[in-house]
Amino acid sequence: MNKALANMPATIQIDGSQGEGGGQILRTALALSMITGQAFELINIRAGRKKPGLMRQHLVCVQASQQISQAYIEGAELHSQRLYFAPQHVQSGKYQFQIGSAGSTTLVLQTLLPALLLQDQPSELIVSGGTHNPLAPTADFIEHCFLPCLKKIGIDVDFKLEKAGFFPIGAGQIHITIHPWQQRHALDLRQCGQSPHIEAHAAVLNLAHDIAQRELATLDKKLKLDHQQQFFLNGISQGNTVYVRVEHEYHTQLFTALGEMRKSAEQIANHLAEQVKSYQSSKAVVDEYLADQLLLPLALGQGGEFTAQCISEHTRTQATMIEKFIDCEIEFIELDKSRFQVNVKV
Ligand code: AMP
Repeated sequence: MNKALANMPATIQIDGSQGEGGGQILRTALALSMITGQAFELINIRAGRKKPGLMRQHLVCVQASQQISQAYIEGAELHSQRLYFAPQHVQSGKYQFQIGSAGSTTLVLQTLLPALLLQDQPSELIVSGGTHNPLAPTADFIEHCFLPCLKKIGIDVDFKLEKAGFFPIGAGQIHITIHPWQQRHALDLRQCGQSPHIEAHAAVLNLAHDIAQRELATLDKKLKLDHQQQFFLNGISQGNTVYVRVEHEYHTQLFTALGEMRKSAEQIANHLAEQVKSYQSSKAVVDEYLADQLLLPLALGQGGEFTAQCISEHTRTQATMIEKFIDCEIEFIELDKSRFQVNVKV
């Protein structure tokens, strides 16, 4: 190990095969390491996955984190199952990252956002790659659900989807400005407030328009929409996405779906409608995915409370990781089968 690291505080050891065992552990470790200045060694990276180790999109998260924090790293190679990461100073500024495949741009944002919003100056990020990936928040989810929720705790981020990128070509682009976090507020999303307004939005990129029209028609039949709309995407890949916005008085929750080969527009929309219905019958405020994404911002701010539809293995792993790096307590209380209360105490 580099001599310059001799006076660093003890390295945090993380076993990447624990809990959910996916890329989330890596991204959260990077984010928390940059914030606390604490080095970490991650072993068994994505050990439970079919193709273990660092994939291209994870490597971009490591390289991007290295760049913004001038970190010393070991093991940052494709398929590597061990990473050592020792950050120095996080530097706000203008950065551009290219994933070079359809790897998720929003997961790069998820990695860098916490450290950059704690700086004194704003940062601007341009990230190219996939913007609508399965198993990651879509750009629409980030723009219309995640960021509006962060706004409630005082986090101010401008987000623009410049080009959409679908698998396998990608070639999408997001452009983000992260403002310094000034006023930190606690979050209270235990109740959603008055009955919702429900909208569906669908788009195709270089595919037939009737796909989006048929998805909207199916969603309207199943959910009795208050509003429906096709929207425009720009880019060179091909794809289809559809989302439902459930706007309550205190929170707007998004549910997203992507078109798939050999699945009809009706099947995609029916499955999406089922997700929305199960959310509505749960009476929880936050869905499974937003729940894991909110934990870190809340732990860095004034904490908060919310009800969630389910506590995934992902969310539990996220809580364990956060508690490893920072002094806070994250509690999950089962209120009933499909409603849990999450308390983040700082
Ligand atoms: P990982 O599987 O560890 O790479 O992490 C995936 C991340 O993407 C988590 O933060 C999930 O909450 C998020 N995610 C996955 N699917 C969705 C979805 N359908 N909507 C919103 N976020 C999602």
